[in-house]
Amino acid sequence: MVNLGFGMMRLPQKNKDDEKSINYNQLNTMVDTYIKSGFNYFDTAYGYHKGESEVALKKSVIDRYNRSDIIVADKLPVYMINKQSQLNEIFNTQLKRTNAGYFDYYLLHDMGILSDKENKDIDIFSFTKDLKKRGLIRKLGFSSHADAEYIENILKKHPEVDFIQLQINYLDWENDTIQSHKCYDVACKYNKPIIVMEPLKGGFLVNVPKKAEKLMHDYNGQTPIMWAFRFLSGLDNIIMILSGMNNNKQVIDNIQIFNDLQPLNDEELNILDEVVDIINENIAINCTSCRYCISVCPIGIDIAKLFDMYNHDMIEDAPGYTVCGNIYVNYSKDEKNHIASDCIKCNRCTDRCPQHLNIPKLMDDVKNRFETEVYGFKK
Ligand code: SF4
Ligand code: SF4
Repeated sequence: MVNLGFGMMRLPQKNKDDEKSINYNQLNTMVDTYIKSGFNYFDTAYGYHKGESEVALKKSVIDRYNRSDIIVADKLPVYMINKQSQLNEIFNTQLKRTNAGYFDYYLLHDMGILSDKENKDIDIFSFTKDLKKRGLIRKLGFSSHADAEYIENILKKHPEVDFIQLQINYLDWENDTIQSHKCYDVACKYNKPIIVMEPLKGGFLVNVPKKAEKLMHDYNGQTPIMWAFRFLSGLDNIIMILSGMNNNKQVIDNIQIFNDLQPLNDEELNILDEVVDIINENIAINCTSCRYCISVCPIGIDIAKLFDMYNHDMIEDAPGYTVCGNIYVNYSKDEKNHIASDCIKCNRCTDRCPQHLNIPKLMDDVKNRFETEVYGFKK
């Protein structure tokens, strides 16, 4: 059975505008449902929910279950490291926040700029080697949104890497920018087990265009989510599929799917090719709502939210031009919200985007779409 990992990146919040306001009642229920069904892998990171995800791991999982029954994955925020001494500081903070004692899986988070660190004489791999020797981490891996060539260079240079976490889903499989298929092939070439992130592309593959959904449903009555997970279950070498679950219904639904996960057959794979074409015809901005860009925006623009409105406006059979436009205009009326025209084109966000989006340019697209007389926009 392919394993379902509990991704702790999009936890339920009490206040949707406050990432740190974890709803522990809801989260505890979700964790209980997940563990009672025989699953035990929790994936957090230093930066998720502005540090509160690691605390949530402690409160909802470590404090309430036997540590030895739980598998904990945590991530070192490589992108934040500017000097060697930060490595210890951050790792100790992670141990303290989670109270995990050790990490079963420890990942270098979002590797894509290692040479930059090496140029500053920061030796991350010696640091993690020492952690492993001391029993503080059990398996070392890295997550990356970089291209296949970059990933291969790391694996060549660092055979001590035990596993790799990659963005793989059927929509990105042959995508030239994300390169899921090529990255997957590199991981297999070096015999590295794979943990899958973004299997539903940040929820994007849950609400596909109606035409694509109908195609899938008419063939076997299954939902787009089932098709997405079944696609992954047909790939060798995958040890875990992470799902960033947000409520107990999602946990229950996912468990049901994973308890009887059958790979897609050849006919279904052909249908999926058509589904990909339909989605690609309709997709406007390839944003997964990971929110990595938002913390670096000096203006405080909720980039993911604006892109989401834009995508819904563009997608076939969505509620419609006027509805999304009205939502945008109403959003702009609240003075604490920032909109596309507030972007100062500082470019700080672009390096942080795992999907390699040209965010400042897309901000112009959003502005041109919504901030017009058609919508009665007034700033
Ligand atoms: S380019 Fe625009 S959206 Fe990006 S960080 Fe700067 S102000 Fe924010
Ligand atoms: S624009 Fe990029 S970094 Fe920002 S939320 Fe979307 S995918 Fe993530």
